[in-house]
Amino acid sequence: MTRLREFRPLRPSSLTGMQIHDSIVDAIGNTPLVRLSRVHPPGNLVAKVEHMNPGGSVKDRIGVSMIDAAEQQGLVKPGDTIVEPTSGNTGVGLAMVAALRGYKLVCVMQDKQSKEKQDLLRAYGAEVVICPTDVAPEDPRSYYSVADELASRPGHFRPNQYDNPANPAAHVASTGPEIWEQTDGKIDVYVAGVGTGGTISGTARYLKSQKPDLVVVGVDPEGSIYTAERDEDVTTYLIEGVGEDFWPTTYDPSLTDRYEMVTDAEAFAMTRRLAVEEGLLVGGSCGMAVEGAIRVADEDHSKLVVVILPDSGRSYLSKIFNDEWMRENGFPV
Ligand code: PMP
Repeated sequence: MTRLREFRPLRPSSLTGMQIHDSIVDAIGNTPLVRLSRVHPPGNLVAKVEHMNPGGSVKDRIGVSMIDAAEQQGLVKPGDTIVEPTSGNTGVGLAMVAALRGYKLVCVMQDKQSKEKQDLLRAYGAEVVICPTDVAPEDPRSYYSVADELASRPGHFRPNQYDNPANPAAHVASTGPEIWEQTDGKIDVYVAGVGTGGTISGTARYLKSQKPDLVVVGVDPEGSIYTAERDEDVTTYLIEGVGEDFWPTTYDPSLTDRYEMVTDAEAFAMTRRLAVEEGLLVGGSCGMAVEGAIRVADEDHSKLVVVILPDSGRSYLSKIFNDEWMRENGFPV
């Protein structure tokens, strides 16, 4: 007791240079850039490792920006329920803000999303509603329709990451400037998977404002609308969080200079290589993005290529990192 009472800080914290965040959402961003020279020996490919955000993905950035914008516009107030269709990561970004600011959260998910992602959201206190993957977006059972219905109830608010300017804006404000500073303005090519398109569009908008001849490459799963040549090429695929079956307004395709299409098998093989060769346990959309980025980086080894790695492999231990699941789905292990 005496020792406790005797303890006094030498100076107030503002003068000691202590670095303390007021809450966990203040720790979002400033993720590291890491050279991927084991899977790409020429050394001109670097990755922005977004699972080092506190909620474990790039989507932490938009959880805060979408709720901040809605609060400023008076669309939502503490005690209300936030409803969002999510592949999981946006749900976590929203869950952190909901916990801190007193909102309830309902996450509407497709049944192809991993069990880990569902459990994770429940652990943050969210309610999870599961919908079938293999139905059209306009089908009343689809996760978009179910979320629409829930959001139409009083006291419910849907941030709608597919149609919310605060989604790409978060990347104009943070991801883009971070990459610019971390590469000292030397980035030549920016590569990202495209889901809502918020990450690629916002980051590209900032980077192109600094360097108009920067090349932006979108990586897309085979079966997604962004690279499908015909309607019948739009089919289901197993990579989570990227590709779509409709064009969201958050995606500005005019900022994407070209695409690389990657199959599930290529994406998952690279995801596994990143873990065992780079020590980077990341998700399937990361393997997909790196597969596309290596093709681009190999075209000119003097160009610095930056690829976004959106989330962690911990969400896929029962899938991509599970030999049985891989074999059942026809992938070599
Ligand atoms: N990868 C994963 C795992 C994701 O959850 C998302 C978000 N849907 C993305 C990539 C793509 O990001 P964006 O929606 O900003 O295009």
